[in-house]
Amino acid sequence: MVRPIAGAGTDETIWRTWPAPAAWPALALDDPVRSTPPLVVAPHPDDEVLGVGGLVAMLAEGPGAEIAVVTDGEASHPGSTVHSRAELAAIRRAETVTACGLLGVAPAAIEHLGHPDGGVDEAALTDALTARLAPGRWCVTTWRGDGHPDHEAVGRAAAAACRRTGAMLLEFPVWTWHWAEPDEPDVPWHRARRIDLTGAARAAKRDAIDAFHSQVRPLGPDPADAAILPPHVLARFARPYETVFVP
Ligand SMILES: [Zn+2]
Repeated sequence: MVRPIAGAGTDETIWRTWPAPAAWPALALDDPVRSTPPLVVAPHPDDEVLGVGGLVAMLAEGPGAEIAVVTDGEASHPGSTVHSRAELAAIRRAETVTACGLLGVAPAAIEHLGHPDGGVDEAALTDALTARLAPGRWCVTTWRGDGHPDHEAVGRAAAAACRRTGAMLLEFPVWTWHWAEPDEPDVPWHRARRIDLTGAARAAKRDAIDAFHSQVRPLGPDPADAAILPPHVLARFARPYETVFVP
């Protein structure tokens, strides 16, 4: 369900004091299918790092990961006085390459699918992902109920592609941490798995997030150029673990 993403959202101190995640099962990373790199599908450049950047960093020493970025995120600052949409698209593509490089992902393992930001073509994306998936391969993407229309569209397309191919869908929340509160009944917490991050993975994720200059810093002094990911939002992505929902 699409939800308004407004205001400061749920404060990270509330999530940090919630006891439930400590009881979630850990996601098993040593499964035999782990010899195949997971496909991480990001609606916008930065979702791959916010959601599972630590996982990607930890996989770099094993099978690695492949990244598909669905849109270029050119609608992040609709009234920008500094950058055009085309400029933002180019900036954000480059930021993903830099950020994923800090997680150990080579540029050749990153694909930009070029859907319009705010206008994901679900049928075309389902076909594109179907061509890239195989039985048992992990497809890691935003949760279908995350609240942002692109995040939900990409989650639905990935779910459809996984049904077609027998790939395994792992969904991660991004904006859920903003609009939901602990024990929110609309969130499938019973399907949650915890990915405990190593210190090195947390550090790499922090550096990778900071590489998204266009999102974590203002583009300029105009309110239309404000940071999309201010510190109170980024705090949600500095936890020692990441969260995915399993089928
Ligand atoms: Zn996004």
